[in-house]
Amino acid sequence: MDSCSGSRIFDLIVVGGGVMGSSTAYQSAKRGYRTLLLEQFDFLHHRGSSHGESRTIRATYPEHYYSKMVMEAWRLWEEAESDAGFRVYTKTSQLDVGPADNKSLKAVASSCQKNSLPHLILNHEQLALKFSSRVSIPENWVAVSTELGGVIRPTKAVSMFQTLAFQKGALLRDNVEVIDIRRDEVRGGVRVYTSNGEEFLGRKCVVTAGAWAKKLVQKVCGLELPIQAVETPVSYWRIKPGHEEKYSIGGVDSFPTFASYGNPYIYGTPCLEFPGLIKIAIHGGCPCDPDNRPWRQGFQLDALKEWIDKRFQGIVDSSGSVLNQSCMYSMTPDEDFVIDFLGREFGQDVVVGGGFSGHGFKMAPIVGRMLVDLAFTGKTEGVELKYFKIGRFQENPKGNAKDYEDQVSFSLNPDGQLGCME
Ligand SMILES: Cc1cc2nc3c(=O)[nH]c(=O)nc-3n(C[C@H](O)[C@H](O)[C@H](O)COP(=O)(O)OP(=O)(O)OC[C@H]3O[C@@H](n4cnc5c(N)ncnc54)[C@H](O)[C@@H]3O)c2cc1C
Repeated sequence: MDSCSGSRIFDLIVVGGGVMGSSTAYQSAKRGYRTLLLEQFDFLHHRGSSHGESRTIRATYPEHYYSKMVMEAWRLWEEAESDAGFRVYTKTSQLDVGPADNKSLKAVASSCQKNSLPHLILNHEQLALKFSSRVSIPENWVAVSTELGGVIRPTKAVSMFQTLAFQKGALLRDNVEVIDIRRDEVRGGVRVYTSNGEEFLGRKCVVTAGAWAKKLVQKVCGLELPIQAVETPVSYWRIKPGHEEKYSIGGVDSFPTFASYGNPYIYGTPCLEFPGLIKIAIHGGCPCDPDNRPWRQGFQLDALKEWIDKRFQGIVDSSGSVLNQSCMYSMTPDEDFVIDFLGREFGQDVVVGGGFSGHGFKMAPIVGRMLVDLAFTGKTEGVELKYFKIGRFQENPKGNAKDYEDQVSFSLNPDGQLGCME
């Protein structure tokens, strides 16, 4: 007898309930597909990549192909917010700084031009004037300033997508680990098996398993995706009493979301989630096994302390962070996403969305749409897929060729110093 009764048959089964899977489930249910979302842990858990207090959304990228995607993602964030009836995004501007000869920052400026994104290139004096001396750069640095920045509240956003998916008819199940996906030779489509002995049938399946994608895909079909889990620390620093307003988000003098190019690449968000604290972190970390993490708290890197002291002119206490959290990136060698059919025996029935390399959150609505498009139509509307194909690693193990510096350094030693991870 067939173990899949009607209630276990779906148009789309989504594996992994982080932001990408939840957005995919929403996009799918919205189009009327019978949708199932399976998550191995509790929904909104803190063991993956999508939890926490803030994620930057910015249109500035060294790679020209992301800016266009962000602009469309913005529209889709607004659409989802209006479906939900509440906001997950707070607007501010975006500031990118770095040495004038930094290739990535130069690429950011040319990508702004190529995509006709309104932006200003500022020297150290112009920057001081624009931001009323709240941030300072050396004379040999430049800044790229755009109005297109902001902060997304991640846990609230994931919950929004899950609620919307549920409202549109999706079935959401947590604490259900997917242990295998097999081609259904009889009916076509796939069979999805879980650790509690259940079995579901899907016409299509999307795998959005974050840092676990490599393990799951390898188990399912033997393919080794070059996706490395990296544990990354997030730190909050205290703004000295009396200056808190200067670094807050909102209002006419809203402080920007920011990124500093160079080694290490440093990023941050204005004061929003914890009064008096500002998030400033290094875009990097240590490779890890997602099932056996060290849970290290905050690297107290000298380079980061020095950066905070100099850029914020002593107004942010750089002696040590006061609040630390831990999160995971899933890194590809070229820091570009993997959005493609799994292929092999599954043909076009299983689609993978992974390797979001520490910059995917802002893209979740468009990635969800792309994954559903791919699953049901075999192509994506308005987005070029060639940069995200799995096959790029066969042509070149490093993936897409780039003639500028890596953004993420995953060569931080456990003691927080920059080291060499071969
Ligand atoms: C500290 C930090 C800061 C970041 N900052 C930014 C930022 O400012 N801007 C930005 O755009 N992006 C940012 N990112 C990146 C962004 O958060 C991630 O790209 C995004 O959250 C990835 O989502 P995901 O759904 O792919 O992965 P996850 O959120 O990890 O979701 C994958 C889910 O799949 C589940 N799963 C795995 N295997 C199975 C299985 N076998 N069965 C069932 N479920 C399974 C996991 O439990 C998990 O819930 C940041 C990331 C971190 C960690």
